[in-house]
Amino acid sequence: MEYKEVTTSIDGAWNFSKWEWKFESIALIGRTFEAMKEHKLLGNKCPDCGTVYFLPKPFCRCLGMPDEFVEVKDTGTITTYTVTGAWGYEGITEEEGAQGEPLIFAGVQFDGADTKVVCVVEDVEPEKVGVGMRVKLKWPDKLEGAITDLSRCTPL
Ligand SMILES: [Zn+2]
Repeated sequence: MEYKEVTTSIDGAWNFSKWEWKFESIALIGRTFEAMKEHKLLGNKCPDCGTVYFLPKPFCRCLGMPDEFVEVKDTGTITTYTVTGAWGYEGITEEEGAQGEPLIFAGVQFDGADTKVVCVVEDVEPEKVGVGMRVKLKWPDKLEGAITDLSRCTPL
């Protein structure tokens, strides 16, 4: 691997509603997205080591093939987080970079899962967020059966 002195960046934006999943993941994700329309979160479990993946994965880190769908809860724990803002970008002033309220992005491990997903944490001041904070998924009023249904959490 080539080591670089400067962080590489890519201009543009990611539109998660247009996300294209890897071929081998389509069936797994499709089943999970369908279940989400009924307020259920389905992960998959590895028969070899017992790891539960949410979102589901076709291959386990132990090289097993998770083949059993299991329900995970819509409550979970923040394992990492960051807050958006202008201070992290060299050369951009607060006025140029900070638009609106800062967003709190967190890695959330839902209860029953061994892996994390990224959610925006709402209804809390950034200073009060921390690793270990308990949160609950904010189900949208209109479920789309898409990754965007998982996008927001609120403290328990
Ligand atoms: Zn495994």
